[in-house]
Amino acid sequence: MEFHIMTLFPDMMDTILGESITGRAQKAGRITVKTWNIRDYAQNTSRHVDDYIYGGGPGMLMQCEPIDLCYQAILEDLDSRGIQERPRTIYLSPKGETFRQEKAEGFAAEPDRPLILLCGHYEGIDDRVLTLLSAEEISIGDFVLTGGELGAAIIVDAVARLLPGVLGDDTSAVYESFHENLLECPQYTRPEVYKDLQVPEVLLSGNHALIRQWRLEQAEKLTEERRPDLYRIYREEHPVPPPKKKKK
Ligand code: SAM
Repeated sequence: MEFHIMTLFPDMMDTILGESITGRAQKAGRITVKTWNIRDYAQNTSRHVDDYIYGGGPGMLMQCEPIDLCYQAILEDLDSRGIQERPRTIYLSPKGETFRQEKAEGFAAEPDRPLILLCGHYEGIDDRVLTLLSAEEISIGDFVLTGGELGAAIIVDAVARLLPGVLGDDTSAVYESFHENLLECPQYTRPEVYKDLQVPEVLLSGNHALIRQWRLEQAEKLTEERRPDLYRIYREEHPVPPPKKKKK
């Protein structure tokens, strides 16, 4: 899957995404991450990409033109390589819909569709850019960052690990938090006892049916305690079965 990141700080993206699993996925050709420096498309000698805000107010805003030209260059690049699939364009923005696992799954389900991620800076971007690029706004949470790069890296990471062959074991991503609206159950590794803390007996039993049941119960309990919002949805989809009638 191709990710195109429009940014003023391409090195930042290369540093984060060039490491660990996303770095290995790039080397293995499972994903392509291409950064585009918006400043390269500034049409002025000082290469500025921002200006004062109409109507007044503090700070500066990124202008339409360099972003639009950068976007056109990406489209030309896709076109020149015969990529037919219309790209999906996202503007990282605190005003957007909050990014969730479901969204990552939706993007990963269309691996041939390039994902273009636009990172804002300063006070953000001229609103007309959203129309020009037909961009969807996505937020990574209810807080304000200095730029969209960390958000873009989060989206690439969350989507990439769902693609076939990116994780060592493709089922790893299935049995994780948010799958079917449950948080993951507690997990343990060696040793069995550490500072008097014992791994739950059932996990050492070798009885896989019992282990599955324990894990599900723990995941349900944890989700109900910590994320009642998710638990409600889970219960709508998995109603508690009625108690079995006792035989007379
Ligand atoms: N003035 C904007 C506002 O109040 O909504 C905030 C601009 S912020 C300082 C600069 C850039 O950081 C934004 O254009 C956006 O790309 C990025 N950004 C900040 N917070 C974000 C968030 N929660 N999710 C995604 N991107 C964010």
